[in-house]
Order: sequence, then C-alpha cells, then structure tokens
Amino acid sequence: MNPFENAQVQLKKAADLMKLDKNIYEILKQPQRILEVNIPVKMDDGTIKVFKGFRSQHNNSRGPTKGGIRFHPDVSKEEVMALSMWMTWKCAAVNIPYGGGKGGVIVNSHELSEKELEKLSRNYIEAIKPIIGPSKDIPAPDVYTNPKIMAWMMDEFSRLEGFHNPAVITGKPIEVGGSQGRGFSTAQGGVYTLNEAMKKLGIEKKDTTVAIQGYGNAGYFAAKILYEQGYKIVAVSDSKGGIYSEMGLDPEKVFSHKKKTGSVKNFQDTKNITNEDILELKTAVLVPAALENQITKENASKIQAKIILELANGPTTPEADEMLFKDKVLVIPDILANAGGVVVSYFEWVQNLMNYYWTEEEVLGKLKKIMADSFNQIYKIQQKYKIDMRTATYISAVSRVASAMKHRGHT
Ligand code: NAD
Repeated sequence: MNPFENAQVQLKKAADLMKLDKNIYEILKQPQRILEVNIPVKMDDGTIKVFKGFRSQHNNSRGPTKGGIRFHPDVSKEEVMALSMWMTWKCAAVNIPYGGGKGGVIVNSHELSEKELEKLSRNYIEAIKPIIGPSKDIPAPDVYTNPKIMAWMMDEFSRLEGFHNPAVITGKPIEVGGSQGRGFSTAQGGVYTLNEAMKKLGIEKKDTTVAIQGYGNAGYFAAKILYEQGYKIVAVSDSKGGIYSEMGLDPEKVFSHKKKTGSVKNFQDTKNITNEDILELKTAVLVPAALENQITKENASKIQAKIILELANGPTTPEADEMLFKDKVLVIPDILANAGGVVVSYFEWVQNLMNYYWTEEEVLGKLKKIMADSFNQIYKIQQKYKIDMRTATYISAVSRVASAMKHRGHT
C-alpha cells in the first residue's frame, strides 16, 4: 500500500469506531485540492532542468491549511496527499486553527549548487503562489528544507505580492520573522507529553532510562532536554549505528563527537550497537526519532519499554500497534507526540500577523499548556473506551474536523 492508502485505512478505522457521518467520511477520505507543477530551473551550466512538484490541501474547515515542503527524490503525489491528511489530524489533535497541507518537490537537493537550490525554492513558490498565502495555506520546512530555504521562499512571495509578507511561511530565521523556540519545538513538545505520561504511570523522571533512535533535529534535542530534566539517556543512534552506556550519556558530548566523526558510533566508554538493538533495550522510554516502519510485527514483542514517544512520523506499523497495546506499552502517537513543531509554527504565524514578538519563555509556556492539555484530553478518551492512544487521538481529531464541517454546512 502507498502512504495515501495507509492514511485512508487509518481514517476508516477511526470513522467506523466513532460512527462518523458517512457524508463527512466521503469528503475527508481525499484532499480538497492537489496542485501538480513543473518547475523549470536554469542550472549553473546554462541548461534548463524541469522539476516536478506538488502541493496538497486536505481540508480547511478549521482554518487555512498548514504543512511542510519536502525536497526529496522519493517524493510522490500519494506521499504528499497522505502527509497533508496527517497534518489535518495533527492540527486538530492539538486544537490549533488550521487544516492540513503538504508540499514536495522530486529532487536530490544534495546534487544542487546553492544557487540552483535557491532558484528551485523561489520558482516552486512562484508555481504554487495562486493557492498559498497567510489566510489560505502556510508552508513550513520538512525533510531537506530548512530556515534558509524558508527565508528565500518568503522573500519570493513578498516580491511577487509587492509587500513584506512574513506570515506566508513559518520556520524562518529569527531575523526575518521566525519564532523563538521553533528550532527545538518538536522535541520540546514531545517531552511535555512524555512528562504527563510519566505522571499517569507514576514513574519518577530521575534516572529513568531512555533510548533514542535518530540523532538529528528531533532526536538530538530530545536527548538534550531529557538529560537536563534528570532522565538517563543510555542509548542513541544515527543512520550509521548506535551506542550504549549503562552509566548514561552526555548528549552535548555525543553531539560534538558526531560533528567531528560523522556519527555517534565509537564514542568513548560506550558499546556500539545496531539500530535494531536500540529498539529492544531494557529501557523505560523508547524514542523513535528517525524513520517510518521501525517497530513492526517482527520486533514488537521484543520491545521492553513502558512508554514509546513517537517523534518520527509513522515509526510503528498497524500490526505492531496492536501487539504493543496488548503488551500494555503506552504509545504516544506521532500526530500528538511531534505536534510541537506545528504548534510553534502557529505561534510564529500569530506573531507575524500581529507584528509583535514573544520571548522564548512566553513561547514555551504556551507550548507546554497546549501539549499537556492535549495529552490529558486524549488520555481520558483512551481510558474511557479502553483503546490505544493512536486511535484515541484520531477520534479526538476527526471529531473536531467533523464538527467544524457541520457548523459550516458542508454536509
Ligand atoms: P534529521 O534529518 O534532522 O535527522 C534524522 C536522523 O535520523 C539523523 O540522525 C539520521 O542519521 C538518522 N537516521 C537516518 N536513517 C536512519 C536509520 N536507518 N536508523 C537510525 N537513524 C537513522 O530529521 P528530523 O527533523 O530529526 O526528523 C526525524 C523524524 O522526525 C522524521 O520522521 C520527521 O518526519 C519527524 N518530525 C520532525 C519534525 C521536526 O520539526 N524536525 C517535526 C515532526 C516530525
């Protein structure tokens, strides 16, 4: 099944359980709009290369659509459609006033020069300009796009409009309207939900053992924040492999080692382990923060963690989900666990519209409230219906979208 078919199966499962109105289901099972564009870029050698791009807008009943732009060779129309649907549920799960959108360009951006990358970024924005804007659809960074690219995109949109328009895109550098806290907001938001889960299960933070798969934006910041709060990070990994230390790791020192050597592997006084081993370690908390489909029916029964915090998108397959539920593992699902990124993107947009900027303390205070309240609300649904956290999150999110559609007379 392609990712869009997967997303449709997940929606159907929740729709059946919650007895969702059939008309609403018919509307929600596909995006409202998909734009496919061919983007010509003059390469450094003078030739023109045409790249294919997409922008999918799944549903805008709760507000303008919102979601990242991915630059990756494996981007496909179906992937972008699925990601836009998941964005609808993510924004609704944490009750921020957006629908779901997502964009992508089929490109190996590592093969482009800086100048070519800038041209592609600007030309993509020009191509999708008719359907984006601060009150229509607001993009952000995703895989292989970053604040620098967001600044070029914002500049291009503003240039075409004829006036400074920072609220069209989020994840910008601070100097051009970015928000304090956006850089580590995904991990920080996840930690707020984890702390709530720990209270529910009656586990103390101090010396609680954690294993983290993936040491990029999500994984590294999660390690750093958890370490500062007293958790004991015993294992981390990246694409090349992982490390384990019973005594615990200092995330900053591991980060410096990775910067120097290109990997977390071979760090002093640790044992090298594989990316399979890291999932099966005897730790209280497991944080997948790398790729999809890591916890499957093959390894789910070997997971020893009590809590899984899904900072990655889609790390657990549906079969594994059922096995983990039977084993009483508390899974904080991706559409809740990693929503901190889009929440702070929402704050960035609000600050741009007001033209008034908040301190990091203000941003984090508001983020904490949203993440903790969302977790507790969804936990109640899970307890009431005796279902897993993912299904509970879907029920909460889909109900909010359905209710907005009813009020607007869309059925
Ligand atoms: P990143 O590119 O910064 O880091 C990815 C990390 O995963 C790197 O350390 C890389 O070495 C590692 N990795 C790659 N292949 C691996 C493998 N086979 N096994 C183990 N590790 C591997 O990306 P990121 O922004 O940290 O994103 C990680 C996950 O979090 C993705 O699923 C992404 O969709 C999700 N996510 C990120 C954000 C965000 O704001 N960064 C928001 C929501 C969701």
